[in-house]
Amino acid sequence: MEYYSEHISKLIEELGHLPGIGSKSAQRLAFHMINLPVEQVEHLTQTIMDARRNVRYCKECFTITDRDVCPICSSEKRDHRTIMVVENPRDLAAYEKTGQYKGVYHVLHGAISPMLGVGPNDIKLKELLVRLQGDVDEVIVATNSSLEGEATAMYISRLIKPTGIKITRIASGVPVGGDLEYIDEVTLLRALEGRNEL
Ligand code: ZN
Repeated sequence: MEYYSEHISKLIEELGHLPGIGSKSAQRLAFHMINLPVEQVEHLTQTIMDARRNVRYCKECFTITDRDVCPICSSEKRDHRTIMVVENPRDLAAYEKTGQYKGVYHVLHGAISPMLGVGPNDIKLKELLVRLQGDVDEVIVATNSSLEGEATAMYISRLIKPTGIKITRIASGVPVGGDLEYIDEVTLLRALEGRNEL
């Protein structure tokens, strides 16, 4: 790295910390950036800062939003008595794209994984239980069909069963180990419609 200027080396190092960016990509990006007009780099930096400063978790469902309560949770057109539990905001987006789901969501921000040391307290499970103290008819567990997703679904089912609230799991039309966000809308809808009671 010392072949380059210190500034460039630092930039390459920082970029290399980003997920999915190896050292070669970091170098390519860094050289791309120093060749851009200064205004364009300023605009990029400002956009990153704005996103970081203004984006937060929705107080209700914990998805990523610019407001205290996200547009889905604040909509009167949604069925607030049906809550779909997903692992991350990308899964929420996948279901929203189908345009067919009318309930609300709960975003866990992860899944239980003993292998990776992620326990129930590391994801937004307590927050889900708090929500269930309100009027809820059904909880649809739409975690991925990976090992972690299934373990999380089992855990949620055990937590909710005693409350008497109906709990369902999306059908296994979703391929094993498949991330929800990569699955097409038809398959997602089929999985939702064919959900089974846990
Ligand atoms: Zn929300």
